[in-house]
Amino acid sequence: MSKSGNSKAGSQSKGRTKGQSAGQPTPMMAQYLALKSAHADILLFYRMGDFYELFFDDAKLAAATLDITLTKRGEHEGQSVPMCGVPVHAAEGYLQKLILAGHKVAICEQIEDPAEAKKRGGSKALVAREVVRIITPGTLTEAALLDARKANHLAAIAQTGSEQALAWSDLSTGELAVLNLQSKNPSALLETWLAQLEPSEILLSETLLASGDLAPLSEDWQGRLSPEAPQAFDSRQAARQLKAQFCVASLDVFGDFSRAELAALGGLLSYVSRTQKMDSLALRPPRQVKAGQHLSLDPATRRNLELTQTLSGSRKGSLLDSIDMSVTAPGGRLLAQWLAEPLAERDTILYRQGGIAYFVEDGEARTRLRAALKETPDAMRALTRLVMQRGGPRDLALLRDALQQASLLYATLEAMADQAWLPSYLADLQGDLADFSAISTPLDDALADSLPVQARDGQFIAKGYDADLDYLRSLGGERRQTLAALQQQYAETTAIPTLKIKHNQVLGYFIEVSASQAEKMPSDADSPFRLRQSLASAHRYLTPELAELDQQIAASSDKALARELELFEALRSLVLAERDAIQQAVDAIARLDVATALSELAVQRAWVKPQIVEQAQLQIRKGRHPVVEAALVAAGQRFIANDSALGDETARLSLLTGPNMAGKSTYLRQNALIVLLAQMGSFVPAEQAEIGLFDRLFSRVGAADDLARGRSTFMVEMVETATILHQASDRSFVILDEIGRGTATYDGLALAWAVVEYLLDVTRCLGLFATHYHELTRLAERKALLACHTMRVKEWEGEVVFLHEVVSGAADRSYGIQVAALAGLPGPVTQRAGQILTELEESGARERTVQALVDDLPLFQPEVAGAAASRDPRPPPEPAALALLRDTRPDELTPREALSRLYELIEALA
Ligand code: ATP
Repeated sequence: MSKSGNSKAGSQSKGRTKGQSAGQPTPMMAQYLALKSAHADILLFYRMGDFYELFFDDAKLAAATLDITLTKRGEHEGQSVPMCGVPVHAAEGYLQKLILAGHKVAICEQIEDPAEAKKRGGSKALVAREVVRIITPGTLTEAALLDARKANHLAAIAQTGSEQALAWSDLSTGELAVLNLQSKNPSALLETWLAQLEPSEILLSETLLASGDLAPLSEDWQGRLSPEAPQAFDSRQAARQLKAQFCVASLDVFGDFSRAELAALGGLLSYVSRTQKMDSLALRPPRQVKAGQHLSLDPATRRNLELTQTLSGSRKGSLLDSIDMSVTAPGGRLLAQWLAEPLAERDTILYRQGGIAYFVEDGEARTRLRAALKETPDAMRALTRLVMQRGGPRDLALLRDALQQASLLYATLEAMADQAWLPSYLADLQGDLADFSAISTPLDDALADSLPVQARDGQFIAKGYDADLDYLRSLGGERRQTLAALQQQYAETTAIPTLKIKHNQVLGYFIEVSASQAEKMPSDADSPFRLRQSLASAHRYLTPELAELDQQIAASSDKALARELELFEALRSLVLAERDAIQQAVDAIARLDVATALSELAVQRAWVKPQIVEQAQLQIRKGRHPVVEAALVAAGQRFIANDSALGDETARLSLLTGPNMAGKSTYLRQNALIVLLAQMGSFVPAEQAEIGLFDRLFSRVGAADDLARGRSTFMVEMVETATILHQASDRSFVILDEIGRGTATYDGLALAWAVVEYLLDVTRCLGLFATHYHELTRLAERKALLACHTMRVKEWEGEVVFLHEVVSGAADRSYGIQVAALAGLPGPVTQRAGQILTELEESGARERTVQALVDDLPLFQPEVAGAAASRDPRPPPEPAALALLRDTRPDELTPREALSRLYELIEALA
């Protein structure tokens, strides 16, 4: 897209005003430079008439990003000024491009009429301008700039003393939350939550950034950091700000906030009010999140499990895409949140399960409610826009429709409650809904059928709603009829039947005749026709009568518009008076949507309600992978279900061997996803499932280079493995795929071996470990809590057939060469590989080494013991000096004996 030249700017005040000395900026440029200096790092959209203009470096950057023409305008300090501009009416599309490219934009408007400016300072007076809003990636509210089914988070990190906290908000829905990062590993917790929230912008104080107290954030977030002045993160000031924002005398009603939490909230609030230029923000009271309430997933695990996007970055193929049957935008956002923040508390999981189970049973209610939900637009974002004075008539219409549906849903749930017992999940959301006809009916009466985006465009109030408006409109209508009569009269008097009365912004109403007919127009001094504009194809005229009529029409349509704007404000106030109730109702709608959507999914795909148990275990009968199964079924194929049994009764770790392509990765991931689905409160793809509450879920799956971050495949693998070994506990569930594949065979085997031992003896987590190192299965000879499983394959006429079945035992071979042949490797290569393999196997060196390792078990125990000490519940062996001291009975010792015991003690300590 390219736009040529721009705007009126070129024609306005191009030169210097009288008395202006060379080198001095023009008054307009001086005004621009003052505004720009207050917004140095932000693109300044400077309003000039119907355009937003950009100058200097801003212009160069915007022209390149937006692919629009860069022009020049006047001079500044002896240099011509680069300039480009975008039309105001099309600004949203350009803004979207700039925001997506990571820029911030300050919108500078003319805050007075040119006429007012003239009254104030004469004909040369400059219109006053002000930055009315700074648009940043994290503070968007416009539907066109947002993804309807995704939250847009703004985050703030703060530190007071040694304590850190993270606050976040989605300004478009009013969400506000805070988390104390105080934990064993605050930086890991921070990364975990950042990966979960995917904030568009991260605020932090300049001093915190410079102090080095904050561990460097991963590359993903570096480009989104927004350093702010430290004063914004003052916890006392923040407490005052929060109390004022939510009109409460004490913040205790919302929770017991630490100073770091307050500071983070304060940083966030001051940024929002500074950029939105508003004191009262459309935010809801802060939700205090506790890390322990959630199943923790580190960024790599989240990525590897392809929860909201695949490894290649698309939503299609992700778990969310596969399970999302929600029919409303708030429901879609809530489901994404459930998936991003799975729970770790049994009661909350059971609470959600109750809602889903109800609709699994009652298919009729589910269908009826889903049909009503489908007609429910996104009232939350429309409400926010209205609160922030950015909403228009279409937002009122959205609210009308949403509130009509809310009333319908309320009535349906009430009828259901009369007939049957509702689980608390449903009873609660019924309590949050209400009958909103007192708002939706007046909105419905007031709004016309077709609506403009902006109230200032008028014509959105229906005829018959307001007598005053109808009267003003009728005046305009009558005058338009007079206009039609006048056109006819002029056509007759001039004998030009094609004469037309037209309208534009510059001339108002005017008479137009084609250039060829122009000579017929009376040109004598008495003629009322005055030529105003000659174009190549037409001549334009005015008459005093037409000018008078033009003024009358303009005055009545101004009055009509003013009345419409008054009515708009009244309707807006009607909605805002019920703001809390509406927000509560939209939340309830989202919860209803998610429960009915997950129950629809459970019914359609035959998922079951998992039993959530306290002890760490995973018992799954006929589990399936939700995404792979859906893809296979869509292609007319069958997914083979598999069991899993982990826990103290069976094994804590299972080693899975089998050929490439046999389904190992699928099996590993399916178990992790079942755990995650169960802990978010959903049903799961299995015939039966018993799942212990896990604190963390880890996955190391597949090898991927991360060259952008300067890490090779092997480095990525080891970094992720290190994270697991450091952070997993005996309540964690871990899946590890192919540890050690990225290095030489013996190094890899040694590492994989050590990792398995560590997980069994030190971490004691539950987990699945897929490997091609068949030697590892020998560990099971000595480790009771290690089970071996393999993917069953059949050999048929020299080819390998995958059965995708997990069975007890170990694979004897990798079938790598057969799989390579299946993939189409040339025959000579696979034949030669076969010979080499036979030779290697016959030499038997690797087998002998492994036997030695097994005989030597526990080979890695000395190193492991140190690490284990901190977790092993048994007391460590007593040092000799302590034992000696314990055996000493002072009352029974002579002074001499006491002295020699002292010498013994010192020796024991040496
Ligand atoms: P590699 O070792 O090469 O990574 P793998 O053993 O991990 O292979 P997967 O990638 O899990 O194998 O699976 C390979 C393909 O097999 C999948 O793309 C899927 O189409 C199919 N598959 C896996 N599991 C099943 C199953 N249980 N039922 C049916 N098809 C399956």
